[in-house]
Amino acid sequence: MPNSNESIKKQDYGISRRNFFKGAGLVAAASAMAQLPITGNNIAEAATANSIDELYEISKDYKQFDQKNEVFCRWEWDERFMPRPKPTIAPGSPGYTVLDIAAGLAAWTVAVSFNSRFGAMSGNDGLFSWFSLGATQFPPKPWITEPREASQAIKRFAHDIGGVDAVGITTVDPRWVYTDWFHRATKESGKIELSLTADKPEIKEDGTKVIPEKMKYVIVMLHRQPFEMINTTPYAASHGATGVGYSKMANSAPTVAEFIRGLGYNAIPMANDTMLSVPLAIQAGLGEVGRSGLLISTIGPNVRISKILTDLPLASDKPVNLGVRDFCQSCKKCARECPSGAIPDGDMTTKGYNISNNDGIKKWYVDCEKCRIFWEENMGGVSCSRCIAVCPYNKPEGYWTHELGNKLAPIIGGGLVTIDDWMGYGKVLESEDYWKKPIE
Ligand code: SF4
Ligand code: SF4
Repeated sequence: MPNSNESIKKQDYGISRRNFFKGAGLVAAASAMAQLPITGNNIAEAATANSIDELYEISKDYKQFDQKNEVFCRWEWDERFMPRPKPTIAPGSPGYTVLDIAAGLAAWTVAVSFNSRFGAMSGNDGLFSWFSLGATQFPPKPWITEPREASQAIKRFAHDIGGVDAVGITTVDPRWVYTDWFHRATKESGKIELSLTADKPEIKEDGTKVIPEKMKYVIVMLHRQPFEMINTTPYAASHGATGVGYSKMANSAPTVAEFIRGLGYNAIPMANDTMLSVPLAIQAGLGEVGRSGLLISTIGPNVRISKILTDLPLASDKPVNLGVRDFCQSCKKCARECPSGAIPDGDMTTKGYNISNNDGIKKWYVDCEKCRIFWEENMGGVSCSRCIAVCPYNKPEGYWTHELGNKLAPIIGGGLVTIDDWMGYGKVLESEDYWKKPIE
């Protein structure tokens, strides 16, 4: 598997005007053949379901996930990763200059400040506190309204504070709640308990985190990452695109949680902690899981997911079927481009590769051990996002071919990948070209 500077494909990036119009012409012709409109809203037109179980085969034996088995947590305790693999790329190599590395790290500023980095990973830390941050106060009487009106107000506020690009609402499904939490810095761990009797979130002396069952509403939020920056992956600057995602989460989830507390309700802001994000996003009508194991959302795969638990009564959204899995069946571009060979090119299954996979759901499982090892080889932990960058659903915000591509994907399948490749999407953007790109 490629894992060094030499093996990272050196390709021209950029869509020539000529190729763009040729590609657009082909796509338009295909659209005409399919008699599809070229504008519209995929969410509105997507088939909806009443529950995730109507869209996915989930075994009755499915077991809740222990956060300790998540591959980044295992990195801290599992001998499988000891001794650490050696980085194959050194600082100063092309794509890993001082400029690239500084950008890759500085973009994490909000996420790593106020203790929030590990709050985002294990919960109840820094800005991700389960309790009031003091910006608002519980009012003498809570705000009372209809659930639909409350959902609209939450979505309005989330949208307007910045950093939130899509919002969906669902209710807690105990299958997606972690059995245990794990803190990657302190190595502490403890149980997560849903309690019928608790009135407020609580942290017990033995470390058990208690969530009142009345906090059954989940607000799921998507945060876009910068398109050009992610296209430099796996170079050092692309680590900054991930940092932007985490920094947006660290701004938005605690702010919306504080808004809810100001309305007189409990709120727990979460990033990767406490509950699995992808199935909750699916339940909240924000997308589907793709071959890459990522959420292929209604605004593409280049997003990070945060969520908030609350007892403010809210109206739920419905899961949607965008045809993503049908398209993934023939697309396979992420499997082709993954530098570690972690993404399968075969059929969906219900069994993963190792304890970091949550068996029992029919889908494509990603070998996250291979993925994590590649990250380490990549200058000692530069995050790779090739599976996001190359996905045909990843297009610049507001780009009309994105919507059209979404419509055509289930119809022309692998043919769309050929068009996508031909138009230049998914090629590594060399970092020297990235820094020279005009700001549009
Ligand atoms: S981040 Fe995606 S593309 Fe990169 S190694 Fe991991 S699975 Fe493969
Ligand atoms: S690259 Fe293709 S196969 Fe992979 S997740 Fe995206 S659409 Fe699915």
